[in-house]
Amino acid sequence: MKIAILALQGAFAEHQQMLQKLGVESFLIRNLDDWNQEKDGLIIPGGESTAMMRIIKDEELFEPVSQAIKNGLPTFGTCAGLIMLDDTHLNTMNIEAKRNAYGRQLGSFYTEDEFEGIGTIPMTFIRAPYINKVGEGVKVLSTVDGHIVAARQGKQLVTSFHPELNEDTRVHDYFVKMIAE
Ligand code: GLN
Repeated sequence: MKIAILALQGAFAEHQQMLQKLGVESFLIRNLDDWNQEKDGLIIPGGESTAMMRIIKDEELFEPVSQAIKNGLPTFGTCAGLIMLDDTHLNTMNIEAKRNAYGRQLGSFYTEDEFEGIGTIPMTFIRAPYINKVGEGVKVLSTVDGHIVAARQGKQLVTSFHPELNEDTRVHDYFVKMIAE
């Protein structure tokens, strides 16, 4: 199994380290040539969704990435990566994300909460979004204070928080198992 990590901007290196811990091969995507390699899954990291949108378009990656996900490429988006999959960005998932939902400056916090199918996990939020609205086919996997912070639709998985910033590898393992299903 080989997982591609979108490395246009943001916290991609941390995802690569998580996959390394799980013994899963990965490679970084910065342009179309990288993109055209064989891959079994894709991770879109946290960062800044406005910058990521600009670069994904500049690199002519917007259409191929969106199409591949719509065609079933298993994809995991964290934080800005969640925003990228919503209905106003790549539009592959029936979710509406609220950006900077916890406030711009003081919106960073740590908590532990339930994630369906895993149990209690550490959750680091950094100027995070949450999911405002879910449509058909979306399964909510976690809520914190009544707001949706993790969801799945088919082979797409999103979290508002950053599982790659903690030692706990269970969310990445969940994604790896999703690919293998
Ligand atoms: N606030 C960022 C955005 O709106 C997301 C923050 C993050 O990915 N840690 O894109």
